[in-house]
Amino acid sequence: MRKQNQQDELLKKNLATEFKTIKAMTKIYCQAHHGTFGNVCESCDSLIKHAHQKLDRCVYGDKKPACKACPIHCYRPEEKAKTQRIMRYAGPRMLFKHPILAIKHLIKAKKQFPDKIPHGLSNYHQRKKSK
Ligand SMILES: [Zn+2]
Repeated sequence: MRKQNQQDELLKKNLATEFKTIKAMTKIYCQAHHGTFGNVCESCDSLIKHAHQKLDRCVYGDKKPACKACPIHCYRPEEKAKTQRIMRYAGPRMLFKHPILAIKHLIKAKKQFPDKIPHGLSNYHQRKKSK
């Protein structure tokens, strides 16, 4: 539990919100498909960790649009496929369970990716710089 909290604190603002959204969606999916309550199963937990690492390293940083139209394919194929399944299942359910997160995500989905891939914007870079 403690480890999870430390992980959460690495991401700030929009990235933290996005991570919260992914966690909430994975939980919805895991409960329905893997019969879990409260915590997610081991496999979903490792997916959440993968997502966390990718958010931390995302080159678009805190201003990133929604992942769906991203020109960079940063997820591993297996994680990508599973994430798409989770989004499809949990997406419509999010509006009822977590309306604020759902609306924030819909706004983000309207944002455009910049023409050029930025450098040094990732949360990871920012963290290294501030040390
Ligand atoms: Zn699961």
